[in-house]
Amino acid sequence: MVEPKYVAPTGTSDILSPEVERRNCIVDKARRLLGLYCYQEMIVPTFEHTELFVRGIGEATDIVSKEMYTFGDQKGSSFALRPEATSGIVRAFIEHSLYTKSMPQKYFCIGPMFRKEKPQAGRYREFYQIDVELLGAEQPSADAEVIALLMHIFQDLGLKNLTLKLNSMGCRICRAPYREELVGYLRKVEKGLCRNCRERIKKNPLRVFDCKVEGCRHLLREAPELISVLCAQCQEHFEEVKKYLGVMGPDYELDPKVVRGLDYYTRSVFEVVSPSLGAQNVIGAGGRYDYLVEDCGGPPIAGLGFAIGIDRTSLAMKRSGLKGLEFLPALTIEILS
Ligand SMILES: [Zn+2]
Ligand SMILES: [Zn+2]
Repeated sequence: MVEPKYVAPTGTSDILSPEVERRNCIVDKARRLLGLYCYQEMIVPTFEHTELFVRGIGEATDIVSKEMYTFGDQKGSSFALRPEATSGIVRAFIEHSLYTKSMPQKYFCIGPMFRKEKPQAGRYREFYQIDVELLGAEQPSADAEVIALLMHIFQDLGLKNLTLKLNSMGCRICRAPYREELVGYLRKVEKGLCRNCRERIKKNPLRVFDCKVEGCRHLLREAPELISVLCAQCQEHFEEVKKYLGVMGPDYELDPKVVRGLDYYTRSVFEVVSPSLGAQNVIGAGGRYDYLVEDCGGPPIAGLGFAIGIDRTSLAMKRSGLKGLEFLPALTIEILS
């Protein structure tokens, strides 16, 4: 064996058999189920104008401020490799005037995303997602339908014992006073917080809930929770979502600490956690984003969706002894097993 002269960049990987087959199984099954739910596939570019992500995801988020791969062209334009797919789909939805057609509209997109993350188990710089978006649906039943679809995909893959965590991020009306209340609390405990969190107080206080530092997590146990100060409309919306979920099936846990790391989320947010993974155990997550289409220059159209992490889902399947070979021709299964 020779010492390789070139190796794959940190945070990327070569996907070889039988991993490829398991991933293809995830994608095939999801694609089939999404078709049954009347979702249409959309292929959007792997890079966009940087400005789109800054506006959509939020300037003060870790994704935009630290984790994007950006590059320029000869004309001085700035582009970024997509760190997530929702912004691109929303951009395409506006650019092609898809909002003029009847609502709601359902799209999905499958492909690689890129984030300059600190490499660690379960975190990759190039990672693969199945991204699902439902546009033009304001009613709480849509939240429940999207969550049920997400759980349906995992169930179809044979994954068991998953935990669905649910929270509400409120709206512009209830989030502003909450933000002030949270900042007041954080100022009181500022000395005990890590440097990142102290920085977040000024720029994006809600992000402190993403912090993995034990000292911060301990202090945040006593922090005020948005869920208890929701405005009447958000409260009602959340109650309805829970009611529909109760009828439709997927069990959930309320977790007021679930705040997705993107600014565009409003109201329902959710995460699906696999017990077989370590610290990076979220295999699917999403939420509602009622202002995003408008923020990206479109009409005021509500939206919601989720992303499934293909890498982590595949790892969770592997650890559960699931090969995912069901879609392969018999001969290939024989060769692989
Ligand atoms: Zn509200
Ligand atoms: Zn911290």
